[in-house]
Amino acid sequence: MKTASTWLITGASSGLGYDLAEYVLSQGHEVVLAARTESVMHDLAARYPATSLVVAVDVADPTQRQNLIDRTHERFGKIDYLVNNAGIDFLGAIEEQHEADYRKVFEVNFFAAVALLRLALPAMRARRSGMIVNVSSMDGIASLPGNAFYSASKFALEGLTESLWQEIEPTGLKAVLVEPGSFLTGIDARTHFSGELLPDYDATSGSFFRAMQNVAELSDVMFPGDPKRAARVIFEQLTGDPSVHRIILGSDAMARIGAKIDDLQGDYDASRLIANTTDFVRV
Ligand code: NAP
Repeated sequence: MKTASTWLITGASSGLGYDLAEYVLSQGHEVVLAARTESVMHDLAARYPATSLVVAVDVADPTQRQNLIDRTHERFGKIDYLVNNAGIDFLGAIEEQHEADYRKVFEVNFFAAVALLRLALPAMRARRSGMIVNVSSMDGIASLPGNAFYSASKFALEGLTESLWQEIEPTGLKAVLVEPGSFLTGIDARTHFSGELLPDYDATSGSFFRAMQNVAELSDVMFPGDPKRAARVIFEQLTGDPSVHRIILGSDAMARIGAKIDDLQGDYDASRLIANTTDFVRV
């Protein structure tokens, strides 16, 4: 029989994190469920008392992050998969938003993930084993009007993770990005917004904002993704010793990331004639 692996999953009280935790537990592995809302996680953990641990944590709090890592090591002795999944959505034009609010997006979506992986890495390096899984988004590759701060936080996570895998893979560890499209998790109901809507952005950011107010009617179109199916695919991809660094999930993510690749290729081709003309001319 294969030995159980240990998963630390943040944002396990809801959505993709909850469904992944449930699927991993159903496969006989150990899971630490971490988020602020404890009741849902305790209900799930009660079904798997021997292989689960619930830790209430605000990932934006340094002391609570350290406690999370310590309690995971105390209970299971190791972390095989750190899944930085906790995230918050944020919507609105760049000019409309309050600075304190968009900084919070980075605290949860980027800085907390960085801090947690930095806390997990020493023990992983000592064992020469472990995987950092950073849940990004199709928005971490391609941005939209009204989506700047959320996208920027995920772009930051992408950039960091791309460095990370180059740094840690020579030590036997692995880092992977998960890039979901829109999955019907209820994240839309928790989407943050601040400031006042400005009429000049009505046709761009404003139309996205209105669509998000109307999600109940548009959910089939706006959220094609089934989080339970995503959980299974994520588990299979991660445990299947992935050779890729990015796992794209959802037909909408494939389309949007494909369009970004085309856009990038167009700009790259257009720069061919000028890019090399800016080097020093050395004789
Ligand atoms: P969700 O249902 O809203 O779940 C978000 C989870 O993050 C919750 O468990 C929440 O728990 C946790 N969380 C938020 N702030 C936290 C904090 N300060 N400390 C600890 N936990 C915190 O969202 P989801 O759709 O499953 O999203 C999961 C991940 O996938 C996110 O990183 C998101 O950006 C990404 N993603 C989602 C979609 C989508 O369409 N659903 C698309 C692309 C990427 P508590 O509130 O209980 O703390």
